[in-house]
Amino acid sequence: MLVLTQEVDAQIRAHGAATYPEEGCGLLLGVMANDRNLVTAIRPLPNVWPDAAERRTRFRIDPQDWRAAELDALANGLDVVGIFHSHPDHPPVASARDLAWASWPGYSYLITEVRQGQPGSGRSWQLAADRSGFVEEEIEIAAGDWGVGTRDLRLGKRILNDQAPL
Ligand SMILES: [Zn+2]
Repeated sequence: MLVLTQEVDAQIRAHGAATYPEEGCGLLLGVMANDRNLVTAIRPLPNVWPDAAERRTRFRIDPQDWRAAELDALANGLDVVGIFHSHPDHPPVASARDLAWASWPGYSYLITEVRQGQPGSGRSWQLAADRSGFVEEEIEIAAGDWGVGTRDLRLGKRILNDQAPL
């Protein structure tokens, strides 16, 4: 399951609108716990797919951007727990290209549809353990401000303990 704060959910939608008509992308930052990816922050990153004309249907994250963002996140007590990207004028269903590129079981692959510039619904996917395909996961939008940093770790655990039938 993917759990987003309301703020993160809004930021992801806004990023998808801002990068329209190209695919926008970035990292989901937070905590992995008990089969849940709790996202408390995002790190938008440039879509560096080499052919600009193809960025409506493709994205690529520069490995150096990724690494810098990951180090930043670690310094703030957060891990990379997934990747988000937008599908301009396409349903938020993971494509064959998305699957070919996805290499990390356990990560959430969140896709947001952006239709004519308006961000719509998102769906999230995880790579199957044998990497044969994507399995859709539930998305929960959690109310409240979780803040940033190690406080999130505690609050994340508390949410799990209080609300989750583990
Ligand atoms: Zn895609």
